[in-house]
Amino acid sequence: MRCGYNLRGLSIREICPECRAPVRATILALVDPKAGELKRLIRPGLTAWGLVVWSGAALVAALGAWVMRLSELSLHWLDVAWSPAWTAWLVVLMTLVSGLGAIVLIRPHAGLGLGPRLRAAGGVLAYAPLVLLIWYLYMEIDAGQAMPMFGAGGPSEDRTLVRLGIGALLAIVILGLRPTARGLAMRSVVVRTGTVDRQSLLALLGAVGIAAAGDVLRLFSGGVRGPVGQALHTGEIVLVAVGSVLVTIGLVGVTIDCLRLRPILQATGVGIADILDDEPKRSRGDR
Ligand SMILES: [Zn+2]
Repeated sequence: MRCGYNLRGLSIREICPECRAPVRATILALVDPKAGELKRLIRPGLTAWGLVVWSGAALVAALGAWVMRLSELSLHWLDVAWSPAWTAWLVVLMTLVSGLGAIVLIRPHAGLGLGPRLRAAGGVLAYAPLVLLIWYLYMEIDAGQAMPMFGAGGPSEDRTLVRLGIGALLAIVILGLRPTARGLAMRSVVVRTGTVDRQSLLALLGAVGIAAAGDVLRLFSGGVRGPVGQALHTGEIVLVAVGSVLVTIGLVGVTIDCLRLRPILQATGVGIADILDDEPKRSRGDR
């Protein structure tokens, strides 16, 4: 489809010996010329960098939250706290920056239906209450408390409820942005020889769910005393800790995917226009 070379006899896994376009991209172009994977991106550079900012800023925010909790554990066990006061602001700011990066997912290319665009817009809008809740958690609830999570009596009910709200908003963000994000990732499989084909956003959603299960357990085990209460309390901590570790690993995976996608999205693609137009190809960088 790109250079006109006859691909007969080649495997679907191979690439065109002339122009290196994957054989499967040509097959998709023949079967479904309107496939979203073949649509030209409206702003390739902005979309590619927006994805990097979206995922990278979210990862920095998560690492900032780890710094605060690990510092609290260090205060608990070693009597030394070392988290700088601006860490909380960094987490709030990076969540906001991640939301700004997510805007590129609303309409990366033409031909997207209203459904995916509305879902993505909803995912971006959910960042507004998310930033507010994260700000409220660290600036209001945790303010003035040396050990908000591991202090005597454990986290307050307010803190657990706010954490659950954050988890719900994260789920809305992930589910909202996933269709268009996944469409862009498929581009690397179909149009290029890239290998970004993992369900990283779904894994992230599962991790958020595990941590939220710990918070739900916390809410319902508040009045339970004795050995049962102790076991429930241990269960809460394990769920929240495992969920948080998995969320962080998930964010690393999404960030790596976005970094790998960046050159693919920015490069001259094989769009539908390349198949139908006879004019010489323009470089994406010229636009
Ligand atoms: Zn070719």
